[in-house]
Parts: sequence; C-alpha cells; structure tokens
Amino acid sequence: MSEDAIGGARHTEEGTSARQGTEEGTPIRQGIVPSYLLSRLAESGLYRQAAQAARQTLIAPSPLQHRTQLRLSIDEHGSLVAEVEAAPDRTISDAHNTEELPGTVVRREGDAPVADTAVDQAYDGLGATFAMLLDAFERNSIDGAGAPLDASVHYGTDYDNAFWNGERMVFGDGDGEVFQHFTASTTVIGHELGHGVIQSTANLEYAGQPGALNESIADVFGALTEQHLRDQTVDQATWLIGAGIFTKNVKGVALRSMLHPGTAYDDPELGKDPQPADMSGYVQTTDDNGGVHINSGIPNRAFALFAVAVGGKAWETAGSVWYRALTGTLSPKATFAEFAEATIREAEAVGTSTADAARAAWTSVGVVATGAGADSSTRTKKADAPKKGEAPRKGEAPKKPKSGKKSPKGEKKSPEGEKKPAKRETGKAGNA
Ligand SMILES: [Zn+2]
Repeated sequence: MSEDAIGGARHTEEGTSARQGTEEGTPIRQGIVPSYLLSRLAESGLYRQAAQAARQTLIAPSPLQHRTQLRLSIDEHGSLVAEVEAAPDRTISDAHNTEELPGTVVRREGDAPVADTAVDQAYDGLGATFAMLLDAFERNSIDGAGAPLDASVHYGTDYDNAFWNGERMVFGDGDGEVFQHFTASTTVIGHELGHGVIQSTANLEYAGQPGALNESIADVFGALTEQHLRDQTVDQATWLIGAGIFTKNVKGVALRSMLHPGTAYDDPELGKDPQPADMSGYVQTTDDNGGVHINSGIPNRAFALFAVAVGGKAWETAGSVWYRALTGTLSPKATFAEFAEATIREAEAVGTSTADAARAAWTSVGVVATGAGADSSTRTKKADAPKKGEAPRKGEAPKKPKSGKKSPKGEKKSPEGEKKPAKRETGKAGNA
C-alpha cells in the first residue's frame, strides 16, 4: 500500500495548484502543498492564521500517507486565510475476478473516472463515507488519523458479497441473478468502512450481542453515509441497508430495514427477512456468530426510532450520540443493555428531551425495561416511551429510487470525481 504512495497526486485546488511528488523517506504528509511552502508560510508574520495552519500541518502526528489539503482564500479584510482540511486518500484496485488481493491499481486519489462502473462507484462510495465521517464526527477517515481508503473490486467470480477485511473494502460482482451491484450501494460501503471505525475504537467482539452491536453500528454508519450524501432528513431517509443489491428477480427492497426490521424482503427462494424488531424476537443461535446479522435488527431499530424522534438530519444529533457512545468507554464485550446505557448517558449530555428519546427508543425494542431509567440514571420517566410494537410511523420511507447512485460513466466529472469533503478545520490537521 505504500507502492509509490500517492505519487504525484494531481489534486488541483482553487488558489493553489502546487503539486508534491513522491518524496521518498520524508515523514511529512504528502499533500498538494509542498512542505517547503508550508515551512515558509509557517514563518509568516503577516499571515498569522495561515502560519498557524501551516505549523499545525507540519507538526501534526503524521501516520503514513496522512493526507490534507491547504485551502487558501481571502477573507473580508483582504487577508490571506489558510485552512487545513482533511482529504480522502483512495486507491481502487481490480482483482480481475480472482481471489488475490489487492489486484492491480486502477484508480488513485484525484484520478479521473475510468471506464468501469464498479471502480468509480467504489471510489465515490469511499469518498461519501469519508465526507460523512469528517462532517458529522470530525473524524478523519476510519482510524481518525487519515488512514488511506483502499478497495478492491471484481473480487472472485460471481462473488456475492462485499466486505472489509481489516485493511480494505472488497467487492464481489454478485451473481447477477440474485445479487448485483454491491458497489452501487452507499449503505453497503458505509457499513463496511464502519466496521473499520468500530475496529479502531470499541473493537466490539464479533459474536453474540457485541457482535450484533458491531453489525448494527456498521449499519448506522451505512445509513448515515447515504443520508448525508443525499442530504436527507430522518423523514426522507429510506432506513434501508443494501437497497438495490437484489436483482429484480427477488421479492424484496433491501438486505435490512433499520426502521422496520424483518420487512426488507420476503421471497419464495430466499425466505423472509429474519430480523427481529425487539427483544421478544431475539434469536439464540450458534449460526452467524450467534446471529450477529439477525439480532442487529434490535439496536438498528432503536437507532432509527431515536433518530426519527429527534428529527432533522440523523448524523447531527442522533448519529453523534451513537458515535460518542462507541468511541467512549464501551467494552469490547458490551451487551445491548450496556450500549443502551452508554447512548442514554451521551444523550443526557445533549439534553433532557434527547435523553428521553433515547430511553424511549431502547424501551421500545425491549432493551431497557419499561418504566426503568438506564442504570446510570436515577430518573424513571416513562411518559413518552412508546409501547412495544408501536413504532412511530412518521419515519416511513418515501418512495425513492432503489439504488442510490447513477453510474458515473465518466461523464461530467471533475478529476476528483465528486464533491469535496464538506468539513473544514481551521488550523487543524484533522487528526482528531
Ligand atoms: Zn457487517
């Protein structure tokens, strides 16, 4: 993955188009602005904010290939303003229908789209996930320190899955009969990269309840990635995971429904979506690592209910509460109840009504007992807790095109392929 690093990343930003080639052995991150220019800027007595930003850029802990961009602009007083913003560092490889990873590199950061939809969709999906993490949580990539985002497409032959292998996203092509277009689903990509975030934070054990939490939180990242990309409110969101990866042959809309677990598909061949919507349906099994993809429906629904109750854009308040619970003191062996407690505690830090909404959501799915506060709370408010099975319907998915993204197909794309990350962190290298 360090082959040629980001050699000659052809990033062109407004205000500056300096380009930094590969400087072997230099510990300084490789961005579009050469380090000599940053050093010079760091000395500036005139451009104090820019100098500060440049210093931060130069001294910030710099893991391999940590990427940033320096954005220069003029403020209302005519002063030069430099802002350091984190930027994704994507590399897409083609496994050429073998199971050898990573395959050959076919598109690097800043490269123009190529004549392969899977490659471009993977590139865009990684970018969408990066943008959501940065914008919603000020998290600079999966590890919070600008880790490169790598993916391999065309993995295996008719391979029916997409996964995170601890280092990269891997996409099969699907068999074309039941599964297709894994790369087209933003929720799938956000989910898989979400596993990377979880791995580098709470590192929830992948079995039983912590495993189902791991799956569920990955779904939360997936849903938030899509909602953020589409700029959807909780009421506009589909709350579906993997919409569009079934072919038309299948009676179903997606792999999972966060708001209505158990309803994503019901197909004569594939059977019915097995996810329970609350603890009364909790599945005890040794399959699937103890039902991690099944019981995840329970915390999934808690999140969706919470987000819908809070309203607005899910990544703003609801997502932040979940994220802070994940990145706080959560045990790798956390149970549903322990995670619920952590989220309620984080929600309390936001405000009473948010905490009430979190408690009500967990009560709704039977994780927190009706009338009981979370263990950490002495309150016993239960007034607005919906009763079991009484899901608010207002978050019902609107009719939306099934698979989010059109094929980029190389038309009308900037060399960067897509919008830039929205977040700008003044004077900060973004290694939060
Ligand atoms: Zn998963």
